[in-house]
Amino acid sequence: MPIIHWFRRDLRLADNTALNAAVRDSGGAVIPVFILDDKLLKGRDVAPMRVRFMLESLRALDDGLRRRGSQLLVLRGDPATELARLAQATGASAVYFNRDYTPAARRRDRRVAATLRSAGVRVESFKDLVIFEEDELLTASGQPYTVFTPYKKAWLSRITPIRPQAGDWQLSPLPTLPSSIAVMSHLPSAAELGFADVQGGPKGGEPEAMRLLMQFKDSGALQAYSTRRDFPGIEGTSRLSPHLRFGTISPRQCYAVAVSTLSYAFPAKHSFSPAASDAKKEGADAWISELIWREFYIQILYHFPHADHANFNRAYDVVRWGSGDAALDEARFAAWCEGRTGYPIVDAAMRQLNQTGWMHNRTRMIVASFLTKDLLLDWRLGESYFMRKLADGDPASNNGGWQWAASTGTDAQPYFRIFNPKLQSERFDPDGTYIKRWLPELARVPVEYIHEPASMPPAVQAQAGCIIGRDYPAPIVDHAEQKEEILRRFKAVKTG
Ligand SMILES: Cc1cc2nc3c(=O)[nH]c(=O)nc-3n(C[C@H](O)[C@H](O)[C@H](O)COP(=O)(O)OP(=O)(O)OC[C@H]3O[C@@H](n4cnc5c(N)ncnc54)[C@H](O)[C@@H]3O)c2cc1C
Repeated sequence: MPIIHWFRRDLRLADNTALNAAVRDSGGAVIPVFILDDKLLKGRDVAPMRVRFMLESLRALDDGLRRRGSQLLVLRGDPATELARLAQATGASAVYFNRDYTPAARRRDRRVAATLRSAGVRVESFKDLVIFEEDELLTASGQPYTVFTPYKKAWLSRITPIRPQAGDWQLSPLPTLPSSIAVMSHLPSAAELGFADVQGGPKGGEPEAMRLLMQFKDSGALQAYSTRRDFPGIEGTSRLSPHLRFGTISPRQCYAVAVSTLSYAFPAKHSFSPAASDAKKEGADAWISELIWREFYIQILYHFPHADHANFNRAYDVVRWGSGDAALDEARFAAWCEGRTGYPIVDAAMRQLNQTGWMHNRTRMIVASFLTKDLLLDWRLGESYFMRKLADGDPASNNGGWQWAASTGTDAQPYFRIFNPKLQSERFDPDGTYIKRWLPELARVPVEYIHEPASMPPAVQAQAGCIIGRDYPAPIVDHAEQKEEILRRFKAVKTG
């Protein structure tokens, strides 16, 4: 009897745990299905760039399945209804899928499993999205970790060598389906689903993910990661985030490639030292830490679902956000979104986000700090805006990143440590390469003014073709003043 494999955040054929199990258990009689769920597509925080990336990845998945003798079935509707109907029409004995851990995904999966089981269909779910899940890593007292460093230590102490699975099997052709199963005749475009036709974002698909991973390794960027990853003007990171988000690559594949580049055995000889500076680490070592951050935030949202919409640290619920003037807050938020705050590093980053659906990690931290600590706006506004733009928009990492920056989260940036946007800019984009790439109006600004163009004397402004207030805005807030204000608000919480 065939087994249905329900694709979700695992849009690949290699090293796909549930799919491999379905191939094994059915002798290749797998029915591969993806369901376009209107509840998700019509949600508040959907990014056209993410939808486009997903559709491109589905197309690549279908190509791969066709090369293996099958094809991807694309249905549209409610997953519980569609899967039950498909199981009945094909006589499938079971539905297999890889687990997802967000509160919304878990609610959906419980409902789908209950519907299928009551129709007599076996349901099996698998660990695939992460290397350690759910309760696999807990503290000595059986509690979830809420601080990264001990979590990472536990993760490293439990890891064993990983050999990703190849996925080089063949599948039986799809059975003929009755007309009651409304298979989509073609994979729709983002425009056909009602989304803006966006260009310039990351390319989707399993082959592209593997190409990026190999390029990251073969170019030496992985080995140099610890010294290059913080500079947004250079290609120092893997750009794999949308692929890890949609599972066009697995964390095990990433981990295995990273380990293969290390000059020492990992983690057996790994001298875990949270204090060791990045420069002393090998690149792959630092990169694996980032893969662990991803899993850390996934387990945080799993164990603390309230963090999805509220402060992880409820003590900060009393912090007041905003200036008290709604119109002013709205104008400031719009300036942040559109990249016209007068702080070049912030504006360059927001333009990168708006144009490409991706932003460098260093500048994500800078703009998130700026929104919360300089504009005094609620982190949830920024979190939601990111979700509406990012191709890699992921509920766990995005929420974790925002709450870290806002100092409301687990293991957060302490509230009194506030990024100074100008100093960040001088340190991480010293010659303004990144700024000039995204802010063409600053292209001719001399490097000594690039981090603070408003300080240019009028003659220099004229020479650079950049008149402040006309070609580029003056800063919309004063960093020093805003810093004092946010510190007052946070201190009030601490002192009761
Ligand atoms: C405010 C804020 C919001 C963020 N929102 C998201 C998001 O929606 N989706 C997302 O995938 N990442 C998010 N991040 C984390 C990080 O910025 C991106 O994962 C990273 O920039 C992606 O680029 P890369 O693939 O080249 O990363 P690399 O540096 O090559 O890292 C490899 C992988 O590790 C993971 N990773 C790296 N850094 C982090 C981190 N700090 N937290 C969690 N995982 C990490 C990602 O999966 C990434 O692809 C956010 C960070 C902040 C500060």
